[in-house]
Amino acid sequence: MKSRRISSTERIRQFLRDRVGEVVTSQEIQEAAGNVTEWARRLRELRSEEGWNISSHNDRVDLRPGEYVLEDEPPNRSNYSFAKPISNRLRAEVLERNGYTCQMCGIGAGEMDDELGRKTRLHVGHIVDRSHGGQDTLSNLRALCSRCNQGAKNVAQEPPSHTWLMSQIRRATIEDQRKALEWLERKFHR
Ligand SMILES: [Zn+2]
Repeated sequence: MKSRRISSTERIRQFLRDRVGEVVTSQEIQEAAGNVTEWARRLRELRSEEGWNISSHNDRVDLRPGEYVLEDEPPNRSNYSFAKPISNRLRAEVLERNGYTCQMCGIGAGEMDDELGRKTRLHVGHIVDRSHGGQDTLSNLRALCSRCNQGAKNVAQEPPSHTWLMSQIRRATIEDQRKALEWLERKFHR
């Protein structure tokens, strides 16, 4: 501690830590931060540099712009390096390799998502999650739209339902559908 004054970041940490799993608004965060204008940057730093699992409307379809949720207990400070952000260069390489399309449903960046009522934004996500030892490498990263990204996160938490799997197969690219078919053939016909 440099002084007795609490930094805006620490204020936001305390505010969110007391509200794990609750929806909070940008206004509440700004107030908690001491009404500083850089609260949004502080929030991004918590996500990207300290590995806090904070969802926004880009991550969860049930959140509106300006709503945030700290999904689970924040990681220990000693684990910061674990959650280092994917570099912009790597992110750009992944998006280019994937042709700026979601690798699960095939929707393109900037295309209108009728269900969400806004243009598609692509996320770069891990195929094997970091928590399972997945690395920040080109081969372990893929472009996903926010809807499929959320679906992939849910899968990590609980087994997907048959209905959800069918919906994903129907929305998959031909290439991925072929892979799923090959996998099923191997499973049942060998
Ligand atoms: Zn998608």
